[in-house]
Amino acid sequence: MKIAAVRTHLLEHRLDVAFESASMRFDRRAHILVEIECDDGTIGWGECLGPARPNAAVVAAYANWLIGENPLETEKIWAKLYNALRDQGQRGLAVTALSGIDIALWDIKGKHFGVPVSILLGGRFRENVKAYATGSFKRDGVDRVEDNARDVARYRDEGFHATKIKIGFGVEEDLRVIRAVREAAGPDMRLMIDANHGYDTVEAVKLGNAAAQYDIDWFEEPVVPEQLAAYREVRARQPIPVAGGETWHSRWGMREPVETRAVDILQPDLAGVGGFTEAKRVADLAALHGIRVVPHVWGTAVHIAAALQFMAAMIPSPVRVNPIEPILEFDRTDNPFRQAVIKTPIEHRQGVVQIPDGPGLGIEINRDALKEFKMPEPKSGDV
Ligand SMILES: [Mg+2]
Repeated sequence: MKIAAVRTHLLEHRLDVAFESASMRFDRRAHILVEIECDDGTIGWGECLGPARPNAAVVAAYANWLIGENPLETEKIWAKLYNALRDQGQRGLAVTALSGIDIALWDIKGKHFGVPVSILLGGRFRENVKAYATGSFKRDGVDRVEDNARDVARYRDEGFHATKIKIGFGVEEDLRVIRAVREAAGPDMRLMIDANHGYDTVEAVKLGNAAAQYDIDWFEEPVVPEQLAAYREVRARQPIPVAGGETWHSRWGMREPVETRAVDILQPDLAGVGGFTEAKRVADLAALHGIRVVPHVWGTAVHIAAALQFMAAMIPSPVRVNPIEPILEFDRTDNPFRQAVIKTPIEHRQGVVQIPDGPGLGIEINRDALKEFKMPEPKSGDV
């Protein structure tokens, strides 16, 4: 069995209403899928986190080293590709592109052996996971306080046990949003806040101390990801558990945050950290240091399916009768191709998502959607 072709599919949808996190404005949704075809006809699918075109360029560069390789040798291929760009790579696009390839190879491996990836990873500890709703960005043309509160009430009514809202726009306005959202959510719904590294240390410490009264489960990306000393300071000087990791790549990128306890909760992204091969090592590293893992997810159903396979195989920790279960980040923002790219959408029922049990990622790609949402030639400023 040999790899015969590596293709990328760039997808895009222009949004009617743009929205923002603290660090990014979205006037369109754009994601990239990776398709790897083998000489026996087996096809695997993966996804890369981050800008579509730059990821596609790096995947295309890696393709030269992939053709002719045995796709079942995932560890060997990971090392070959990582080493190929190591001197100028190590993190960023070199690893996000590798992640999409690695996910596709594991999909092939599962299909080849006729089992879900979760079985190949060591076994399924669970058949479903609770999802938490990610939404509540800053939308153009509406009052953010009322808009976010409305969102959260809707998520609660849909059955979600938890939700995460976007902050990082300014401490006073963010506190007004958090207060309104807690009121709309009621006392039982779990609530998380994500600053998308929009604060400096002083602001993050102030926000954390003032927001703790609203019963917040975690404070995500309080400061820029390069500032690990600032992370540690935020963790030490305010009471809300600190989360981060969606922009830290590979086991080497995760090592210092874990070893120096910059976070309480580590958020590796399957499509960014280095695929299944590397996410497994990162989860083991976190477990070694007693740090909780909650994977980050932002993309299409391919990405969600990969996260679900990984979460099925996450080793319960701590070991007790009812261990802490992993929870799935479930994006609720506008994206018509998120689920359209697969034939059977991955949906929640009362905030619970079943983990597919078919071979590989357990999904079938809908090629009509890949055509419908194919990214047009770039406009100025598009990536
Ligand atoms: Mg985040």
